Amino acid sequence: MSNAIEVSHLTKKYAKSTVNAVDNISFSVKEGEFFAFLGPNGAGKTTAISVLTTTLSKSSGDVRVAGFDVSKEASRVRQNIGIIFQNPSLDQNLTAEENIRFHAVLYGLYPFRPFFSWMPEDYKSKVRELTELIGLGDSLKKPVKTFSGGMKRKLEIIRSLIHNPRVLFLDEPTTGLDPASRKSLWQYILQVRKNEGTTIFLTTHYLEEAEDADRVIVINKGKISADGTPKELKQDLIKNYVRLTPKTLSTLVKELDSKKIKYLVEGIRVKIQISDPGADVQRLIKSIDSPLVDIDIHSPTLNDAYLQLITDKNES
Ligand code: ADP
Repeated sequence: MSNAIEVSHLTKKYAKSTVNAVDNISFSVKEGEFFAFLGPNGAGKTTAISVLTTTLSKSSGDVRVAGFDVSKEASRVRQNIGIIFQNPSLDQNLTAEENIRFHAVLYGLYPFRPFFSWMPEDYKSKVRELTELIGLGDSLKKPVKTFSGGMKRKLEIIRSLIHNPRVLFLDEPTTGLDPASRKSLWQYILQVRKNEGTTIFLTTHYLEEAEDADRVIVINKGKISADGTPKELKQDLIKNYVRLTPKTLSTLVKELDSKKIKYLVEGIRVKIQISDPGADVQRLIKSIDSPLVDIDIHSPTLNDAYLQLITDKNES
């Protein structure tokens, strides 16, 4: 199988809501791919990931995860996925290892034994291997309530990997973490992916977290507004503009219309996209007869461009 996730015309409308939280989206994710679902708050990311992980029913469309239909084969989907959500769902009174053990037993991977030492060798070596990989080694026997936010997320990762999921879902996994923990968490996730070949499906509103992804989809107001590799998105997003302030706006607009030059009106200014700030500006200015009072070149950062993309789509 080459696609780990296949989404076709997925729509979700919450009861009592007048709009679709997810509105007819289609995309697929290849096996082993690191895929990022990027968008602002309220875009529909959690709704989509909840449908994909079988915790929310869809209104229409088809969704297959790890080869199984999320509506008709929900338990098969669950056996093949790992989930790390925004709020850790760990039992605070249990030790880290007990949290992992109960999860593994719940998934039917091993029979329950009251002590770690009584568990099958296979389980013990898997836990040791994962804790080594993620760096929680010494804390395995400590109660989760003594853990920092970063440690809890690491434990969630180990727990969600214990049943060797083919797809790992991460819903804004670094929300509430400080930059250092965020960075180290990412190192762990990427290492896990390298070692296990796990498909990663990430939702985030941090642009920089999507930069390591193989592919990014930008979602806004329930719809896909951009799709590509981070490099393609950057090229697509980062555009330079020249901003002209005319003496009379209507005169300039009329002239640009007649010369078929594309523009956007921004208050009293007109914004025109250029590809080369050096050569293009001069050519543009030479071609305009309307009197201008000011000219400036606007070069957005990637983050500016992302915000712009979201704003443009909001207005449309
Ligand atoms: P994101 O995860 O991108 O922040 P969500 O999927 O949480 O976005 O929300 C998408 C839209 O659906 C928002 O407008 C939100 O208000 C709405 N929404 C989310 N959950 C519910 C719910 N349980 N009932 C009604 N509307 C909801």
